[in-house]
Amino acid sequence: MSALRTIVRYGYAPFMMLALMAAAYWVVAELAVARDNPWAYLLLAPLLGLAYATAFAAERIAPFFDEWNDHEAHGDNPTNLLHLLIYEMQSINGVLLIPLIVWLFPFDIGVWPTQWPLWAQFLVAYIVSDFVFMMMHYLSHRFAPLWRLHAVHHGVGRLYGFNGVMRHPLHQVLDMVVGSLPLVLMGMPIPVAVLLGFAISVTLIVQHSNVDARLGPLQKHLSIGRVHHLHHVNWGTEGDCNFGLLLTCWDRMLGTFHEKPPREITAKDLGVDEIPNFPKSYIEQFLLPLHYKPGQGEPERYKKVSAAAATPLTPAQEARRIVDAAE
Ligand SMILES: [Zn+2]
Repeated sequence: MSALRTIVRYGYAPFMMLALMAAAYWVVAELAVARDNPWAYLLLAPLLGLAYATAFAAERIAPFFDEWNDHEAHGDNPTNLLHLLIYEMQSINGVLLIPLIVWLFPFDIGVWPTQWPLWAQFLVAYIVSDFVFMMMHYLSHRFAPLWRLHAVHHGVGRLYGFNGVMRHPLHQVLDMVVGSLPLVLMGMPIPVAVLLGFAISVTLIVQHSNVDARLGPLQKHLSIGRVHHLHHVNWGTEGDCNFGLLLTCWDRMLGTFHEKPPREITAKDLGVDEIPNFPKSYIEQFLLPLHYKPGQGEPERYKKVSAAAATPLTPAQEARRIVDAAE
């Protein structure tokens, strides 16, 4: 088991970020573009499924915290599956909207390097959006209206493969518009946009998964694992750092990079400190920006749920519970 754990610790990030990305690149470049067959893009769906399956298997073999793997105790899987479906559907819609945006803004500023190989175009798109997403993320922690939306991403008390897609759909739309509009207006072609969407999904899985990935000297350059855990702590404003999606260089430029936490992060240190009873249902999380007012403590409606849960049972209810448990 320990040999397998070592393989997972060292092999997880390269498999996800290099091998799966290479497979996606082959699908897009060789099957979709070279053969002019847009249906080939559908093959990215099973590849994304493989990314999730790999993350969940790796979390079992080499977790940061066993507690974060306890799906039943957290009771958030159904909601998170909905988050996954809605996030990916919105991503697909975002790519499908590109021709519409090009049609609406028909001026061609002609700066996209279409003569470059596809992989080089993809790298340009990835680095630009890594920077833009980091800035949007930074602003989402600075401005209350954005934070009310982004708090949905920070609410749950653990990190695992699904956390990356746990976003308020409106915040995702804002992210996508701000992140991709400059690229689209520069003339980013559809195959590059598809690859970019896939790469961001895989990066989000790696960034949040509960895998004790060993990155060696790359750890301080990549905003994943421990570096990203610090961003999710519920220690007041101490988590207002490490905003990067993949690269830490932007945080270094902003002065918001912290390689090591000031104290050890435990399995119970994640979440939003103002909302200890973070709602678990999708509808409640969707409505959270309406009820949550930063700086004014936990909304009453969440407290009520916890108070009801903590109310002692009457003797009759207690007797019923014992009978039910015995049956
Ligand atoms: Zn954040």
